[in-house]
Amino acid sequence: MHKHHSALGLATALRPVQPVTLLRPHAAARAARFFVEKFQGRSMYAVKANPSPDLIQILWENGITHFDVASIAEVRLVAGVAPEATLCFMHPVKAEEAIAEAYFNHGVRTFSLDSVEELEKIVRATEGATDLTLCVRLRVSSEMSKLSLASKFGVEQAEAKELLQRTRQVADALGICFHVGSQAMSPSAYVQAMERVRAAIVSAAVTVDVIDVGGGFPSVYPGMEPPALEAYFGAIHQAFESLPVSYSSELWCEPGRALCAEYASLLVRVERRRGDELYINDGAYGALFDAAHIGWRFPVKLLREPDSNARDVAFSFYGPTCDDMDRMAGPFMLPVDVGPGDYIEIGMLGAYGCAMRTGFNGFTAGERVIMDDEPMASLYIADEDVREAVSSNVIKL
Ligand SMILES: *Cc1c(COP(=O)(O)O)cnc(C)c1O
Repeated sequence: MHKHHSALGLATALRPVQPVTLLRPHAAARAARFFVEKFQGRSMYAVKANPSPDLIQILWENGITHFDVASIAEVRLVAGVAPEATLCFMHPVKAEEAIAEAYFNHGVRTFSLDSVEELEKIVRATEGATDLTLCVRLRVSSEMSKLSLASKFGVEQAEAKELLQRTRQVADALGICFHVGSQAMSPSAYVQAMERVRAAIVSAAVTVDVIDVGGGFPSVYPGMEPPALEAYFGAIHQAFESLPVSYSSELWCEPGRALCAEYASLLVRVERRRGDELYINDGAYGALFDAAHIGWRFPVKLLREPDSNARDVAFSFYGPTCDDMDRMAGPFMLPVDVGPGDYIEIGMLGAYGCAMRTGFNGFTAGERVIMDDEPMASLYIADEDVREAVSSNVIKL
């Protein structure tokens, strides 16, 4: 596929009518290598953040060998794209048929659970297999994360003892996993969760072979600038070292967002302006679900030649469907003279952006193109390098 060097060049040369997804394989590869080299344990990619086969292939080629899958469709997908990969079925509530297919047809040996009922289901579906790694999901706080994952899954501290003991009797290897919530803004979220893990291990008095700290590793968005990922890795490793687990135990993590946020951005066109509201050609039913439904802010940049030198003001966006809910409040800061026919790049949509797209109202994805410039923001490029970057695309949030 032909590689484009700048979003501005693409917009001015092609003037696309449909939204265009701009893919940056080098950014996903860089994120994968960062985790593989710097996280002192095993990093597995949480496929739900972006199930694109191209992305799975890139991560695999850059050292991600394990994949966190949550549905039988994700199992089949990764098995097809990277047949040598190890799959871990980390959804605590699964269909029995899905467990059986994963175990017997796709070699899945690692499953998570947060109830005795699920444990019994796994035993039945695998016909009493003795080669399972079973991870008990603990409920932990989401208070330091932008997106809570604290209510739906996870066994309460009071019931953890019995579940850990019963799982230990069935499992070849016993793990404990948790999820601190997505976009965790402080490493202490993991440290606090590890304290819950410690209490659970002490109370159940079981031998634990795997500690899986889940996802939640942040990316960078306007108004959300987290500490460096190394600070997270350091705090997690230190907490892990102090846990009462066997010396051969393993440390795992399941990053979704952090591995793919920088992989994709979106090129959209303004179709109409009404005051400080811009009607653009993608929205809540496209790649902007989080911008609409949870008020997530993404970086934006006007792509016009010559560049506007008007001052920036706050805009909100409407998407293309006929639905009032197709609205992204922002605020998105753009030059005050932006108007119909202008193109805008919306950055950092590789995670939970492209993955959420529907075809509602006939507005579907446009073209996907490969870029070799840098993403609009990055946790993997040092500040000096950003300033030096070949492209002028990188903006200061
Ligand atoms: C969603 C999810 C992840 C990935 O979370 P991020 O916040 O994107 O890193 C990891 N593990 C489980 C079990 C999940 O549900």
